[in-house]
Amino acid sequence: MITEEQYKKAIEDRKKAEDIISQYHQESNERFDERYQEFEKGTKPFTDDELRYAAYNRCPCGHGLAYPKNCRLNHFWDCSAILKGIADTKVQHTGKLPFMFYSIKSEDQPSARGATTRGPVVPQVKKDIS
Ligand SMILES: [Zn+2]
Repeated sequence: MITEEQYKKAIEDRKKAEDIISQYHQESNERFDERYQEFEKGTKPFTDDELRYAAYNRCPCGHGLAYPKNCRLNHFWDCSAILKGIADTKVQHTGKLPFMFYSIKSEDQPSARGATTRGPVVPQVKKDIS
């Protein structure tokens, strides 16, 4: 039999845990925002280790689609070459593809069965936009 005292202690423990979880997410989001700002300023491109790649989908330039790990839920898929600061500016690249509008399988999903666009570029039909 659960006592009233045990019940009240459990409620209190849950509140403490929720505060820790909330603070953790807030700090994680702040770290991500700082990191993404470094990328946007052009001072620190992302590395492969920092990116999660699409299992199958590629940018028109041939590099895999990717997003930075630990990004927010309202983030988007982008060209991994852009994220790594190695994009060829003379070819077409994807626009930003928000998660909420594009269902793209990522390499870490079990159903991808190891498929990834990480690694060598696979030439697509290139369009010269210059
Ligand atoms: Zn691209």
